Amino acid sequence: MEDVDKIILGKYVITLDSFNRVIPRGAVAIRDGVIVDVGEYDGIKNRYKAEEVVERQNHVVTPGLVDCHTHTQQFLLRSAISDEMLQLPPIWTKVLVPFENMLKPHLVKISTQASIVNMLRNGITFFIEAGAPYPEILAEEIARSGIKGVVTLATYNILEGRSWSAEEVLKRAEALHRDWNGKNGVRVWMSIRQVMMASEKLISGVIELAKRFNTGLTLHLAEYQGEVDYTLTKHGKRPLEYMLECGLNDIKPMVIAHGVFLSPREINMVKKYGLGICWCPTVDSWLMGVHWAFLEDVDNVVIGIGSDGASWNRLDLLHEAKVAKAIAKALDNAIMYYKAGLSSQTLLNMVTGSRGLIVGERVGRLERGYSADIVVLDLKNIRNLPIHDPVDLVVNYVEGDSVNDVIIDGRFVLKDGEMLTVDEGEVVKRIIDYESDIKDTLKELMKAIKR
Ligand SMILES: [Zn+2]
Repeated sequence: MEDVDKIILGKYVITLDSFNRVIPRGAVAIRDGVIVDVGEYDGIKNRYKAEEVVERQNHVVTPGLVDCHTHTQQFLLRSAISDEMLQLPPIWTKVLVPFENMLKPHLVKISTQASIVNMLRNGITFFIEAGAPYPEILAEEIARSGIKGVVTLATYNILEGRSWSAEEVLKRAEALHRDWNGKNGVRVWMSIRQVMMASEKLISGVIELAKRFNTGLTLHLAEYQGEVDYTLTKHGKRPLEYMLECGLNDIKPMVIAHGVFLSPREINMVKKYGLGICWCPTVDSWLMGVHWAFLEDVDNVVIGIGSDGASWNRLDLLHEAKVAKAIAKALDNAIMYYKAGLSSQTLLNMVTGSRGLIVGERVGRLERGYSADIVVLDLKNIRNLPIHDPVDLVVNYVEGDSVNDVIIDGRFVLKDGEMLTVDEGEVVKRIIDYESDIKDTLKELMKAIKR
């Protein structure tokens, strides 16, 4: 008998491994934060002696979810964005970026903590921050909470007609990498907020840093029709064509947030270079239009799903999967009269970041040698019964509020519904206590918009 730290037993284990196994009465054996075996419980039990056997008889065990695009310092905008405000051209330079910048330190901290607690509650074990104005605070909170997160600095030097030096911004990004990369669950990547918000010098500087540090890079791209016109006018090229010319294709991992307005030629480049695409089903629909991810050959693309931050939704990727499926079915039916499009299996691949491929790490699968990042979903719940096909059940019915346990690197972060690493009650209390501060920040912003 081999010694292991933990065995997690579930009614079903959805592995997302090379054979797409779904194992009834399955189990995962974990040692030193890594999965050593996955199989039927009876076999696992005979091969391994565990310090702790966690029995989850009415539950499905899945890999941890990966939010490929979020904004942890926009949490306090939740329910603040009206339908009318969506029309602001564009909303990010008018509302989202200024709001983040205006937050006082205590609000930045609570926004960051709240985002992390909210993600963990919904089974998200890994996320990519698109660019935080206060990335050091985010790094501290990642380290405290046990979640895995990509931290990036909000990297831009043009906003609403003002511009400033690229050097200062690059220095901050470099310092962030030096001080935090590799520490306690923190990954520091480079980012570009938006091609319209960055000078050519800043774009080339960021790409140079990503190559020098061998880190990933993420950017908002092809998300706005005005942006396509901007690069066509300025450079004679569409946004991705221009960025590739700047050297983007040499960077791995590379995650394009949205990418709604990519041309067929650009989509081919995405496939050719293995670039990651993050579809944000709710936000892309509200702000942009139709994402091409509904096309069935999406299995050839490294594509994940993102929330785009709490100002738009409940940071619930299982809910986003349902939104995604409805959008895809509507379009497949309308255009091709094809009802089988975008399967549950493909959507599960997406909510785990293309089974971890999009972040370039051994996450997103329950398979030997992968990180023991695991989510346990409670099926003994009127909303989730009865069970015929566990994969269809998870994608079509189960949402974040059914998450019972979250394990990251083999350690419980959420156990039987209780958050272990963050004082969740205190986070909730502070958001309520700070209500007038939060509302004052928004009022100030609204005044600035009207001026
Ligand atoms: Zn975004």
